[in-house]
Amino acid sequence: MKVEYDVIIVGAGGSGLAAAVSAASLGATVLVLEKEPRPGGTTGMAVGSFTGNRTQQQGEQGLEDSWEDHSQDAAQFAPKEIEARNNTALRANFLKETAATMRWLMEMGLRFSGPHPEPPNRIARMHNVIPGAQAYIKTLTKKLNTLGGVLLTSAQVTDLVQTNERVCALHYKHKGTTVCATAKKGVVLAAGDYANGRSLIRKHKGAAFALVEGINAKATGDGHRLAAAAGGQLLNMNITYGPEIRFVAPKQGLGILQWAMTLHLPTALAQSIARLTPQCLYRLVAKELLVTWQHPEEALFMDGAILLNQEGHRFCNEIDSPERELAISCQTEKQAFILLDQALIERYSGWPHFISTAPKIAYAYTADYIKRRPDIAIQSRSLDALRAARAPSMKAIVETVYQYNHSIQADSADPFDRAQHRRPLEGNQWLLLGPAKAYFTTTEGGAAINNQFNVLREDGTPIKGLYAIGQNGLGGQILWGHGLHIAWAMTSGRLCGQQFRRSGASPQS
Ligand SMILES: Cc1cc2nc3c(=O)[nH]c(=O)nc-3n(C[C@H](O)[C@H](O)[C@H](O)COP(=O)(O)OP(=O)(O)OC[C@H]3O[C@@H](n4cnc5c(N)ncnc54)[C@H](O)[C@@H]3O)c2cc1C
Repeated sequence: MKVEYDVIIVGAGGSGLAAAVSAASLGATVLVLEKEPRPGGTTGMAVGSFTGNRTQQQGEQGLEDSWEDHSQDAAQFAPKEIEARNNTALRANFLKETAATMRWLMEMGLRFSGPHPEPPNRIARMHNVIPGAQAYIKTLTKKLNTLGGVLLTSAQVTDLVQTNERVCALHYKHKGTTVCATAKKGVVLAAGDYANGRSLIRKHKGAAFALVEGINAKATGDGHRLAAAAGGQLLNMNITYGPEIRFVAPKQGLGILQWAMTLHLPTALAQSIARLTPQCLYRLVAKELLVTWQHPEEALFMDGAILLNQEGHRFCNEIDSPERELAISCQTEKQAFILLDQALIERYSGWPHFISTAPKIAYAYTADYIKRRPDIAIQSRSLDALRAARAPSMKAIVETVYQYNHSIQADSADPFDRAQHRRPLEGNQWLLLGPAKAYFTTTEGGAAINNQFNVLREDGTPIKGLYAIGQNGLGGQILWGHGLHIAWAMTSGRLCGQQFRRSGASPQS
């Protein structure tokens, strides 16, 4: 069997599907290979924020913006030493294109709430797709289908084939068979990040970090390995978003709205409902996602919450990061629990003290966790009852709290060196949140690329026939803050796909 397409795209997440739709709408024949049984990747798990400037929504609110201002503000998010490694020209070019990308997505039927403020952006720029990030995947998949593009799932790309220094084909495994597919115009790497790519993390960040998992367990860095094996240069590979503490995902999956989206509630229907009450519907979904993925606020530990392992022992200084996250990854099942006493429960039950947030959109308090995540939040009147109800293995919990309080009252040294922010834990209400783990959210390393998304060698020459987009083709950009990763995934996909136009073909909408 001969498999031959103009363009072959590795990965059906946000960037891969965007590139596929863009190329197919210009007449190219497109094959998208996805290793998982369903498309989506990390994009499909995300909140869905898209940060852009000069958008229609900003215009409707009378907000005047410019890509130059956005470039300046985008430089304020990461710590200075990380921002110093940014590819300024590439990020500026990307930010110039965000409004056009949002227009393109809206022409396909996607709707956004916002813009929402997100300081240090001086102007509101964060737009959130309604009702959640699955809408990107469903809309793009459907569009690709109508354009005649082929999406093959459970098809893992294993290696690239080069002839005369040009990438012209690849191998993928599908149903136990290895298939060779030829790409006449190019192979596009869109295989996502390496948040769970142990060997890449070990190599670029060190062995201690290799114990930390990625939120998306399937984000193993295949695209980065393929780029490197073809001779491509990888940049900023030791820059990661995290590790951060996050609660484990619910076994029964996401909340009702995201669940409905995942189960193919027609996007048009979901968005029609959303149009009626977009902000309030979005808040509902955002809160659902907050208690699913968002990390607990640092303030909780500053105010005295302690971390326990499965056996009920403290094991680290709760206010020392990333040592705290690395210590969690060394505990049984890499799990930890956060213990709140009565004073903390009361403090974190209303504004301005929240356990987690998507800033300015939604805030989750103790009651939200108890109501929406009964699998990870248990409240009791005593530590013994808490242990009996949720954590019989936590034999040491009572003793640990006793010792902790005693050490504070006796003003003796804390074995974990938490000199500050200690107070005795007491009262008639206790809340145990967990299990939580230390996770990488995403990674900032990617292949070096030029403005055509061609992967570059260390000497700056392009590898013919090989392109990288989304998290594979970050090109040295630092995209901290909410909404720039998805904006880049969609923008790089849209622009990369455009160059595979079939000569003589007229664009299809
Ligand atoms: C919980 C969470 C929330 C987030 N929320 C936001 C947000 O609101 N806004 C924002 O901007 N960013 C957000 N991010 C980050 C953002 O979602 C991602 O960086 C971005 O969507 C990545 O897009 P991508 O196309 O590069 O990769 P992905 O969407 O991960 O797609 C890669 C695809 O390639 C497939 N693949 C991998 N290897 C192979 C192979 N060998 N063969 C075939 N297929 C392969 C994968 O299975 C996957 O489907 C969030 C991240 C997390 C973890």
